[in-house]
Amino acid sequence: MKKLVILGGGYGGMRVLSSIIPHLPYDLMVILIDKVPFHFLKTEYYAIAAGTVHDKSLQIPFPNHPQVSLIQAEVEKIDLHNNKVWLTGKNPIEYDDLIIGLGCEDNYHQVEGAEKYTHSIQTISKSKRTHKQLRHLPEGAKIAIIGGGLSGVELAAELAESSKLQISLFDRGDAILSSYPKKVRNYVERWFKDKKVIVIKNSVITRIEEDIVYNHGSPIPFDCIVWTAGIQPNKIVRTLDVEKDKKGRITLSKYHHLPNNDRVFVVGDCASLKHPPSAQLAEGQAEQIAFVLTSRWKGKVLPDHLPPIKLKGVLGSLGKKVGFGLIAKTALTGRIPRLIKHGVLWKDKNKKNKITD
Ligand SMILES: Cc1cc2nc3c(=O)[nH]c(=O)nc-3n(C[C@H](O)[C@H](O)[C@H](O)COP(=O)(O)OP(=O)(O)OC[C@H]3O[C@@H](n4cnc5c(N)ncnc54)[C@H](O)[C@@H]3O)c2cc1C
Repeated sequence: MKKLVILGGGYGGMRVLSSIIPHLPYDLMVILIDKVPFHFLKTEYYAIAAGTVHDKSLQIPFPNHPQVSLIQAEVEKIDLHNNKVWLTGKNPIEYDDLIIGLGCEDNYHQVEGAEKYTHSIQTISKSKRTHKQLRHLPEGAKIAIIGGGLSGVELAAELAESSKLQISLFDRGDAILSSYPKKVRNYVERWFKDKKVIVIKNSVITRIEEDIVYNHGSPIPFDCIVWTAGIQPNKIVRTLDVEKDKKGRITLSKYHHLPNNDRVFVVGDCASLKHPPSAQLAEGQAEQIAFVLTSRWKGKVLPDHLPPIKLKGVLGSLGKKVGFGLIAKTALTGRIPRLIKHGVLWKDKNKKNKITD
């Protein structure tokens, strides 16, 4: 039996798997390796940290199929020369084809103390740990959220709506949500003002100590600090000796495999693509990887170019009732984007649960 090994069952890995299952050749075995036993809906981790959603409601079982086996283990190293993946405490696994979909980690931008003294919402276990820290704080306790992008804004809003904590959101730009139109940014800022969330713009975080944020060198005390100020590819990918872009993402051929190795594909946040990383992009790219693999299995010639990956837009929540978004260049604010976001999440969960039935 030939072995296709998928590293990471997140948005990219899970979508490749579910798309190839109906087309698997009889002599191929798929091995999915992930350190967690479920596919998790990472886009909702801000709500886990805020304690408004239980982790069970975001977990989806991996597909059950006689040609698919699951290994719950931590990937330690990828040996591209010997086609082997090393796992912590387990025997190494050999592959014929490999898909790397290990996602991303926080990027601390060399800010001293940031990794040690801040909490994170990048993994399910870190989000749960962040919640554990937050839930014991008394009314009025001061929380710093560093980074006013989508995940920082959603976390600040969820906490503002569900707790009596005093939240400060730091961003280095002139505005939070810098990639969104002015209409969205103004709406979100007004909402924050209403909910007494302090937005600190043009901040330069120079150092973090235990419960202290240094902005432009001045110390500000907090009871808890959460880092949402950027991402970088998974460390396994960072240490891989292959060509990468300026952000450390792996450069790929037009068919999403390594330029000099058509047996190794990279999907999602670890891949150098034209658009900023997102769950939507990971899934769109995953479908193209599945298309390349199934075409190969069926002996079909690949088209000269794969079509551009279609992205529908991004939606964000401000608590449970309102939200914001950008769909087909239209800025949305208020109840409608929140309803659409809820609907999209519900549909995604249902679709994924059906695949695993
Ligand atoms: C709070 C938040 C909100 C977001 N909101 C949105 C949104 O609204 N829309 C959107 O499109 N995107 C959103 N994103 C981004 C989106 O979640 C990511 O872009 C997406 O998850 C990337 O998919 P992926 O498959 O590359 O990685 P992931 O989905 O992160 O999957 C990586 C998988 O690899 C596993 N893994 C990692 N390291 C190891 C290891 N060493 N060994 C074994 N397994 C390992 C992990 O357990 C995980 O299952 C949000 C992110 C966050 C944090």
